[in-house]
Amino acid sequence: MKNPITLEFNFDHKSEIEWTAKIVFKKFLGLDIELKHLDDPTKINIINNSHVIETKNIFFKLSNNCWLDKDILNYINFSDLTIDGIPNVTKKNIKIFFGQPKIKFLEKKTTLDCDIFGMIFFIISGYYEAISLKKDKHDRFAFEFLTKDFQNLLKEPSVDVYVNFLFRLMKKNDPTLNKKNQYYDNFISCDVDNPYGFYIDSFSKTTRKFFGDLLKRKDLVQANLTLANFFMSKFKNYSYDELNTFNFMMDINEFYGNTMTFFFLSDNSKSSMDGFYSIDESRIQKLIKRIVERGHNIGLHGSYLSYNNIEYLINEKNLLCDILEKTNSNQTKIGIRQHYLRWSAKSSPRLIDKAGFDFDSTVGFADHIGFRRGTSHNYSMYDLENRVSLKILEKPLIVMEDSMFGKEYMNISDDNDFKLKLKKMKKSCVEFGGEFNFLWHNSTLKNKYYKDLYKESIRLVSN
Ligand SMILES: [Zn+2]
Repeated sequence: MKNPITLEFNFDHKSEIEWTAKIVFKKFLGLDIELKHLDDPTKINIINNSHVIETKNIFFKLSNNCWLDKDILNYINFSDLTIDGIPNVTKKNIKIFFGQPKIKFLEKKTTLDCDIFGMIFFIISGYYEAISLKKDKHDRFAFEFLTKDFQNLLKEPSVDVYVNFLFRLMKKNDPTLNKKNQYYDNFISCDVDNPYGFYIDSFSKTTRKFFGDLLKRKDLVQANLTLANFFMSKFKNYSYDELNTFNFMMDINEFYGNTMTFFFLSDNSKSSMDGFYSIDESRIQKLIKRIVERGHNIGLHGSYLSYNNIEYLINEKNLLCDILEKTNSNQTKIGIRQHYLRWSAKSSPRLIDKAGFDFDSTVGFADHIGFRRGTSHNYSMYDLENRVSLKILEKPLIVMEDSMFGKEYMNISDDNDFKLKLKKMKKSCVEFGGEFNFLWHNSTLKNKYYKDLYKESIRLVSN
């Protein structure tokens, strides 16, 4: 048995540092740690193999008495720390923002003049979002609100980079130290906002859609399909619906051995933003049954207002569980992804935890791909308001297809550019044995162009 790593720090900041340490050492590296109180509040020491790595405590000390105050931003100063001399790190420099870019190697001691635990916490807990007052039209924090330095930081799995750097420092002092093996995996999902054409119950809507296809989109084939879909849906033949791409998605993913998760809205009565379908419709229940029978998973797509409302969350979860029971699903874990990726860094983790979900998969930027929490690994979240650890697991969302295609977002129209960006994201996940969490809506597979791109994308992100 190896001696555990000892982490020494001032216990005035225990809750946050303990949470960070558990994620870094236990969850990500698979190493045992013991925590010891240190009188000096300015340092955090890591002791392994009778060697001390002395790091600075800047963030936790400064923020302790003015928690969630944005004044902490005045202490942020980006610089490059050279880590060239440390074996097996893949970068020559890493960006740091709390402290100075200095590292000194002495015989039994390494001193690092930056606050590595503070930087990790600041990103992975969502603190940087919680102190921001900026919100987009859906009340969301957005990638575009970040400074250029932070944008660059979150295009990469910066937390994983910091953790790897820390491990390499420790391994330099103890070459026998090994971390747990983590292997690349993917999490492919679909948010079911529009399971079928919105027009099929109304002849006037169908007519408007038909003329839109014909005159605006100049697509005669689609115009005919719209009419066919209207009439054939009356006979429960849904094969003419351009949004009915569920079998297509499952076929491709099954070919590559991927289990998908489909997130369904279960209550559309609270807001007009929650789509037009009801989970009680026999058509939807049959779809869910088919997904379950094919071995894929069902999750809750939390309604527009539910991200900060515990009653809505519990009610919607119960409605979904009732349906799952009817389908004889033996799914044991229920996950959630919020509609429109709406999220409060302060309250959503606590409410979703309280509502009894097993995981959340909302935390990615709507307006940009990347690593909103600095990692692609799953981790248990932190309640920033009550300053306690939570059980609820976050599966960070890395790529949503709409972030790339959206005209108001990244506006990528070139499929080669799309694939290049996807490959880059996969490489970052592979490098740290993380999970590529990839969302593509069934409604974005309307034509051959997108279907071909989907096929290619799933091939790319598969193991
Ligand atoms: Zn949605």
